[in-house]
Amino acid sequence: MQPKQSIIHLPVYQPGKPVEEVKRELGLKDVIKLASNENPFGCSEQAKLAIVNEIAHASIYPDSFSTVLTSALAEQLGVERKQLIFGAGSDEVILMLARAYITPGDETIMADETFPQYKHNSEIEGAVIIEVPLKDGTHDLEAMLAKVTDKTKIIWICNPNNPTGTIVRQEELTAFLRQVPSNVIVALDEAYYEYVTDAAYPDSIALIKEFNNVIVLRTFSKIHGLAALRVGYGVGHADLIHYVNQVREPFNTTRFGQAAAAASIGDGAFLQSCRDRNSEGRLYLCAAFDRLGLQYFEPHGNFVMVDTKLPSKQVFDALLRKGIIARARWSYYPTHLRITVGSQEQNEKFIQALEEVLDEAAVLG
Ligand SMILES: *Cc1c(COP(=O)(O)O)cnc(C)c1O
Repeated sequence: MQPKQSIIHLPVYQPGKPVEEVKRELGLKDVIKLASNENPFGCSEQAKLAIVNEIAHASIYPDSFSTVLTSALAEQLGVERKQLIFGAGSDEVILMLARAYITPGDETIMADETFPQYKHNSEIEGAVIIEVPLKDGTHDLEAMLAKVTDKTKIIWICNPNNPTGTIVRQEELTAFLRQVPSNVIVALDEAYYEYVTDAAYPDSIALIKEFNNVIVLRTFSKIHGLAALRVGYGVGHADLIHYVNQVREPFNTTRFGQAAAAASIGDGAFLQSCRDRNSEGRLYLCAAFDRLGLQYFEPHGNFVMVDTKLPSKQVFDALLRKGIIARARWSYYPTHLRITVGSQEQNEKFIQALEEVLDEAAVLG
């Protein structure tokens, strides 16, 4: 048996450590997971009700076209229904985009470090990967533009960027899009857009009206707190979306996911409260890092990338023994930790644990 050449070297995805596993392995009673940017406040009560109501229909296939969810979202975003595509998380929209558009030998451009799924799915399709280092933790759009050739198929921009949390602003993004050839797709991954409070953050839905080659990727996994149900979406020009839809599996989103997502869209109060509490938590963490003399990238999502000034594996392991699961080990950032903004109580416990870890390391020299 011989697998495709393009996948032989691929690593299996390593998720953040699950809470139950850490409790078992370390014999801990209380464990806080701040590793996967999940919503510490759960999901909307209305979404929970919608899930329960769907249980009676579990034996019936879901609506392949996500009709109810599509209509609700199209109305909220002010786009046409045919401009939307849903996936099993935005991960699957990334997969479908690569599958629909990339042929072996095409070039695709992305930042380094950024969300790993762009590279992963592009490699599977046999693309040549062009990685452009971040500049001060932010996408270097000029350097990315300089890498465009007549073989370029997709440029990926993660905004806010995972793992650094930085954003590309409206003005620079618009200037960039004006220079990108119209046959090159620009995928704007906005998994965290609801958390952004900076007024200079791009209005990407307005941009897709001007640029037919832009697809915006969003998800119900983050602020909506529905990560387990796997719903994400893409928005773009109907022609671009059309071909992504052609490679979509017939029943790629579930009844539960569709119903919960539609209910969650309607619960603006829940989303606003998550946004507000996240902003407060972000400020709290940054103030604590300032006090500890630790530098961090300007955070715009629900996580902060902080430089611990120690090997991140060491800090990660020490935090784990204190019941805190963080995220570490990025090749470009060997001393950084990415920490999800939790509830106030979780944030305080994390900072206390971090202080202890840093103190212990200082004593040991
Ligand atoms: C979490 C995340 C996603 C997608 O998550 P799904 O659960 O697959 O919707 C996409 N992009 C980035 C940058 C993310 O952090």
